[in-house]
Amino acid sequence: MIDLRNYGYTEQYQTEEMPEGCIPGRVTEVHRELFKVITEFGECNARMKGSFYNKADTAEDFPAVGDFVILRYNEIGDSQITKICPRRSKFSRPDYSGHAAGYVKTILEQVVAANFDYVFILASLNYDFNINRILRYITVAWESGGTPVVLLTKADLVEDYTEQLRLIREQAIGVEVYAVSAKSKEGLKQLERFMTSQNTVVFLGSSGVGKSTLVNALAGDDIMEVNQIRQDDSKGRHTTTHRQLILLNNGVMVIDTPGMRELGMWDVEEGLGDTFSDIAELSNQCRFSDCTHRNEPGCAIQAAIADHTLEGSRWKNYLQLKGEARFTEDKSAYLREKREFFKKLEKANRTKQKVGVISDGVR
Ligand code: GDP
Ligand code: ZN
Repeated sequence: MIDLRNYGYTEQYQTEEMPEGCIPGRVTEVHRELFKVITEFGECNARMKGSFYNKADTAEDFPAVGDFVILRYNEIGDSQITKICPRRSKFSRPDYSGHAAGYVKTILEQVVAANFDYVFILASLNYDFNINRILRYITVAWESGGTPVVLLTKADLVEDYTEQLRLIREQAIGVEVYAVSAKSKEGLKQLERFMTSQNTVVFLGSSGVGKSTLVNALAGDDIMEVNQIRQDDSKGRHTTTHRQLILLNNGVMVIDTPGMRELGMWDVEEGLGDTFSDIAELSNQCRFSDCTHRNEPGCAIQAAIADHTLEGSRWKNYLQLKGEARFTEDKSAYLREKREFFKKLEKANRTKQKVGVISDGVR
């Protein structure tokens, strides 16, 4: 028998009444309609109860990696997920995939990770050190309900990083910062206090900062593919089928999902708005608020291109970058909603964090 407490199922999640024949579990993998869930009987396949699809108002109502769920357990076939326990923390992104699109009335956000304790924010010391990006990740982390910890990676590649440490400590008050190297193992010992039993950790950071290498170093095992391999086949990267929630030997759990890897894209998207404010302004002047700027009457963008106030090349450039950032047509609406949503969440979390300081003793 597996003790689900080892998977972080502590009292705070045990608020749901357990119906006859049901058991709790934690989602370790999310596929299109199939979920892998760890239970006291081991890992099982599970599907959602049919009525879920009718009731769900947003994709948020669907289980995510890390969710604690209540299952109608089936020994011989797929178990059925009947309920998601309230989340303590979560990361979401806009749902581009149309996952469950046929069922869900409005897809606002898709939760890509849930119920983590610490958010390790990775930035590499040797390349493209960007304090603003780190600060934005910290905001995202606080908003998620987790506790951010900044890790400056590849410390073996630089002689001196006191300035970077100082800068972050000065600007991100109350956030712990460590310089680490997966290669020389420098600084890894300091992370042990986060890497303890029942804790769940997620890793944020741009591609190439060393997330996989660090997870492997902390796990003492090659459980993640390192970038060299992925670079050969960048398409394969998002479809790797490795476990999305992993229990390491030291008892800590790590969540790493394809969706998490895209969280960093928010930066790019919001940054685009600054760089192309003229285009943003123009599109506000289109006759139709949902103008796609292709051939609608009254399109301010097409008009500006026609009279050369907007260079066609600049527009092309924008479209290309936009594509890379996976900008959606309703991006601004999404961002507005996201901000409002997070504001609410932040408020809720502030209350919770106050409680957390007293009870958890770590912070
Ligand atoms: P990810 O995309 O964030 O998961 O990054 P990876 O873990 O795949 O690492 C990207 C590259 O950085 C690989 O070539 C790693 O070997 C290298 N790398 C990762 N950590 C370190 C480190 O601590 N020191 C050095 N020198 N290189 C590292
Ligand atoms: Zn237009």
